[in-house]
Amino acid sequence: MPEIPGQGLVKGLGVTLRTMMRPAVTVQYPHDKEAPPTRARGVIALLEENCTVCMLCARECPDWCIYIEGHNDKAPPRREGGKPRTINILDRFDIDYGLCMYCGICVDVCPFDALFWSPEYEYSEINIADLLHDKRRLGEWMDTVPEPPPLEAGAQGKLRKGPAEARAKSR
Ligand code: SF4
Ligand code: SF4
Repeated sequence: MPEIPGQGLVKGLGVTLRTMMRPAVTVQYPHDKEAPPTRARGVIALLEENCTVCMLCARECPDWCIYIEGHNDKAPPRREGGKPRTINILDRFDIDYGLCMYCGICVDVCPFDALFWSPEYEYSEINIADLLHDKRRLGEWMDTVPEPPPLEAGAQGKLRKGPAEARAKSR
C-alpha cells in the first residue's frame, strides 16, 4: 500500500503528544533528590579495625584502584607465658573513585567484614584527584552504612564486629 504523504510526520507528532501528557520521570537534581534504595552501591566504607591488611581486596579489584600499605608489629601474647604475636598494622588504605566501577568485588571478597556499601552518592569533586578517599574518609562513611537485614530464624552466625557496633563505639 502506497504511503500517504505526511503520514510519518503525523505518527511522530502523535508520539510527541502522548509523551507530553505523561508525568515526567526525571527529577530536577540537585533541587529535588530521590532516596536511593537501601542497599544501593553509593560509596564503600572501611571498618579499619576489622582490616587485617591481607590485600585480598586490592588483588581482586579489576580496576587496581585500591592502594594498601601496612607493616608488621608485635602484640602481647594472648595467654600468659606465650610468645608475642605478630600483627599487621594498616598504614594506608585508599580507594580511587575516579577509577572504581562499583562492581562490589572488594566488598564481597573481604574475609574479615571490613568493607561495606553505603547508599551515599554525593561526593563529586571539581578536581578528579580529590576522588581518592583515604582511610580516614572511608572510615567516616561507616556512619552512613545501613543496618544489615536480620538473620533468619535459627541462624547462629559467629558475627564479627559490624557497622552497628562500630557506630556505637564511636559515640
Ligand atoms: S567496587 Fe570494584 S572497582 Fe571499585 S574498588 Fe571495589 S573491586 Fe575495585
Ligand atoms: S579490607 Fe578486607 S580484603 Fe581488604 S585488606 Fe582489609 S581485610 Fe583484607
